[in-house]
Amino acid sequence: MITKIDHIGIAVRSLAAARVFYENVLGLQCEKIEEVASQKVRAAFFKIGDIHLELLEPTASDSPIARFIESKGEGFHHIAYKSNDIDSQLDQATEAGCKLIHEEPIIGAGDKLVAFLHPKSSHGILTEFCAEPKRTA
Ligand code: ZN
Repeated sequence: MITKIDHIGIAVRSLAAARVFYENVLGLQCEKIEEVASQKVRAAFFKIGDIHLELLEPTASDSPIARFIESKGEGFHHIAYKSNDIDSQLDQATEAGCKLIHEEPIIGAGDKLVAFLHPKSSHGILTEFCAEPKRTA
């Protein structure tokens, strides 16, 4: 079940340059910067109430974010919904005929489990499901 909007992903060429807007113009505070190897990005997180903005800077020319910026420019990239059960969330999407980018969750920022749906199946909005990692006792 989707429990909330977790974050909004924004593609930027340079975190250093983009931070100036979020920090100086909006007055937000950068909570942390993290490199996400699986996505070839460096991410900066800004907390607003209960949700985060996730600024994404590519770390390689074949990063999905680099390709996105090349074709569409900087800007809105994806919306992420938090799920309390990402596996059944993906099953539900598949059963409803949705095309997936990730059939199985991968490890994303903050070691969360993440999976992307295909934007062609989600009316142009790249959609991410994310969930807390499963704890092994
Ligand atoms: Zn995300």
